[in-house]
Amino acid sequence: MSAPLPAHPRFRTLLILGAPGSGKGTQGKVLGSIPRFHHLACGDVFRSLDTRTPLGQKFVEYSSRGELVPDDVTVALWWANVKNRVDAYQFKPEIDFLVLDGIPRNAEQARLMENDIEVLKVFHLSCPDRSELARRLRKRALKDNRFDDANESVIQQRFATYEAETKPILDYYREGNRVVDIDASQPPAKVLYDILGGVMTLDAWHDMEKLKV
Ligand code: ADP
Repeated sequence: MSAPLPAHPRFRTLLILGAPGSGKGTQGKVLGSIPRFHHLACGDVFRSLDTRTPLGQKFVEYSSRGELVPDDVTVALWWANVKNRVDAYQFKPEIDFLVLDGIPRNAEQARLMENDIEVLKVFHLSCPDRSELARRLRKRALKDNRFDDANESVIQQRFATYEAETKPILDYYREGNRVVDIDASQPPAKVLYDILGGVMTLDAWHDMEKLKV
């Protein structure tokens, strides 16, 4: 694992949070294609690991059960990844928003990342209809070769993990009016519209608007 990032101002961060299948990745990718928004999906970082390495093995072990990879290795991997992106000038913290999807995924991860990210807004993609989410996951399993989406009991376990571990961090972020609840059953373009509407209420957005780069 590479060395920690040197002291830095906290990254201006937008979180996309929601149950598996709620469309976090879809929205993150689109947002990340807009200049000054840099998208990082924790699941993608895990999936890019060589499965022959100890960490790659750990990912397969936990994700195939629908469970979270342990917090310390997850946050360390996230660090290493962000650092690479900063070093490669892909993510430019002084001028870009960091759009995180899939991390932090529980209270401990939020705590471990607290000194490094300034969470400006949390977009909660809400879809109480779990059968709709399961339908999306089964479709994705076929298209994207996602082994953790293919099995019904793993899907149910992932929903349970979300309810028990991830959902409680919403309450933590509700302080300071940071959470925007968005109906994830809407068409993707409308979800994006709602997200952008939330971004444009931010002081940091207005600062960025004035920036000429
Ligand atoms: P989805 O988009 O369906 O919610 P992800 O691609 O984000 O799924 O994650 C797939 C799997 O990768 C998770 O079920 C989990 O095992 C592992 N994973 C991803 N992010 C994290 C994280 N922040 N902490 C622990 N495990 C994670």
